[in-house]
Amino acid sequence: MGRIRVLSDVVANKIAAGEVVERPASVVKELLENSLDAGASRIRIETEAGGRRLIRIIDNGCGMMRDDALLAFERHATSKLSDVKELLSIATLGFRGEALPSIASVSRLTLETRAEEETTGTLVEIAGGKILRCDEAALAHGTVITVRDLFFNVPARKKFLRSEQTELTHITQLATHYSLAYPDKAFELRHERNELLQVTPVTQLRDRVFQVFGSQIMDELVEITDAHREFKSEDDEDSPEREFHLRGFVSRPQVQKSNRNSIYLFVNGRLIRDRLLMHALSAAYANLIPGSAFPFALLFLDCSPAEVDVNVHPSKTEVRFRRSAFVHDFVRDSIRERLVETRPVSSVPLHATPQRTQGLPFSEFTQQIEDFRYRQFAPAQPEEAPLPNDAPPPGPPLELQPPQRFDPRRFDFGDPAPAPSLNPPVAIARRAIPDTHGPLPPGLVSDPGPSLDILKDLRPMGQLHDSFILAAGADGLWIIDQHVAHERILFEKVLRQMAAGRVERQQLLIPMLIDLTAPQQVEYSRIAAELEAVGFEIEPFGPRTLAVKGAPADVGLAEVERVLFEILEIAEQEQRQASFEDIRRNMAASIACRAAIKINTPLEMNKMLWMLAELAATEFPMSCPHGRPIALRYATRDILKGFHRI
Ligand code: ADP
Ligand code: MG
Repeated sequence: MGRIRVLSDVVANKIAAGEVVERPASVVKELLENSLDAGASRIRIETEAGGRRLIRIIDNGCGMMRDDALLAFERHATSKLSDVKELLSIATLGFRGEALPSIASVSRLTLETRAEEETTGTLVEIAGGKILRCDEAALAHGTVITVRDLFFNVPARKKFLRSEQTELTHITQLATHYSLAYPDKAFELRHERNELLQVTPVTQLRDRVFQVFGSQIMDELVEITDAHREFKSEDDEDSPEREFHLRGFVSRPQVQKSNRNSIYLFVNGRLIRDRLLMHALSAAYANLIPGSAFPFALLFLDCSPAEVDVNVHPSKTEVRFRRSAFVHDFVRDSIRERLVETRPVSSVPLHATPQRTQGLPFSEFTQQIEDFRYRQFAPAQPEEAPLPNDAPPPGPPLELQPPQRFDPRRFDFGDPAPAPSLNPPVAIARRAIPDTHGPLPPGLVSDPGPSLDILKDLRPMGQLHDSFILAAGADGLWIIDQHVAHERILFEKVLRQMAAGRVERQQLLIPMLIDLTAPQQVEYSRIAAELEAVGFEIEPFGPRTLAVKGAPADVGLAEVERVLFEILEIAEQEQRQASFEDIRRNMAASIACRAAIKINTPLEMNKMLWMLAELAATEFPMSCPHGRPIALRYATRDILKGFHRI
């Protein structure tokens, strides 16, 4: 081994670049952050070949003085930090003074900048970390940074770059994220001749969401305007500012994404990836959407910079909270409270693409429902439901539609008689017979929008296939899945009782003996106390045998063993990381599922009334503990449309 020596700056910068500059999007990120820190109100990004050939950022920020323009490329040169104490309260996006030297060491970079207070600007040219030129130049105020041929001198890194399209996707996502975080600024992103993003300044986050995602998404979101909570503690600590704020948008439970790509988390205006916040978000949706599905979320958490350490990783995408448990619970509760407040209905869009296949014989139909109950619930594909706005081919206007295939996941009215509504001959026919219809009752056409608050006023009319309760409401026809509705009712009841430490228990006349495998035995010992809390009374009976003497009240005797095994299995799958709260929820979900009324069960009218009233009283009447929808609504408005009354 040779002698130790200090690396030259050129080498050190290239090493640092390995962490800071992973791909073209990381360059965009650093430069964007610099423009924002410079107070720019307009930022334009130009790219070529997915950012590999060219990335240019033009801003109207404060610009740099001539001396600073060169200093900026020195390692650890920053205008944002002067003292180690300030590391504890960073209010800017950048602070490490690493980005510019790192980027310049792995590309051909040009900086053109002029500070507002200077009359001439500065042009600096650097390639592979070597300064080639530094001249005065006549420039507009602000900064333009052009990065060409990224990784031209790091072939190993270049090889790892993905396709142009992939790199461009990363850049686009990044620009989109930042445009959402700063609605008061104008952003523009171009790739060669294409305009990919162009947004003008707006005052409300809502307007920016609208600009970026379009109008349709608004119906699927609930807004969190300003949830806040103050951290209180006994010990008198230094920091006076301990209030945490959360705002943004989260999706209604019927929106289910198959990955995390639609989750945008910002802490003090910085885009981050954080497991704690991610967990808080999933906890807010626990038992509202399937465990394998993800919501859409655009969340801004703001707190005093002293509460969060952003100096965790060179790319600054990870943070550490000083009071992590507090932050977690605050975020989870704020989201959940909003979801409870809005009680969004999980109805399937009426205009979803209907499947036009032949009907099934009834026995097959019920079999399908039965199969479905035991099939693993797959997350709904995040598909857009196109409106049936294509005019149908001309034909006899009131032709009967072929029967629709029943698909329980897409429980669909299959746009009832779509053809006539768009056919001019029918419109004429309608005009010809106006009066026999009679006037519409007032207020019938206005649709208050789906809300489960209306559940308590529903009037049950009967059952469909002994499985679904049909009910009339002021706003239309409702269809409620009796099994999942009951599941939700029982689930919340069990959780409530557990929280109060008063579960209802049934004593078994003869203890039930259950043999466990070794892993099950381990799981059992771990969660024995939880099992007792949920109503089981269990005693060891030999090395791997349990004697079950009591069980939760709602579970039928035949199901006790199954519930117990299911709980052990879930606990095992979730590994040891699952918190006891998660375990409790899973236990309650298992019990509720096994104890709930099955489909294919006739119900008396008073039982249906009871069910609707109980469902209305639950916290989340829209989805079952596994995330399936409970109620569907056929709005009066759509019924009227179907009959050509409006
Ligand atoms: P950091 O952002 O961590 O300070 P950088 O290497 O990203 O480090 O930037 C170094 C310095 O260059 C910044 O502190 C800032 O003073 C200056 N700078 C970079 N980009 C701009 C810009 N677009 N406008 C004005 N000043 C800039
Ligand atoms: Mg920076």
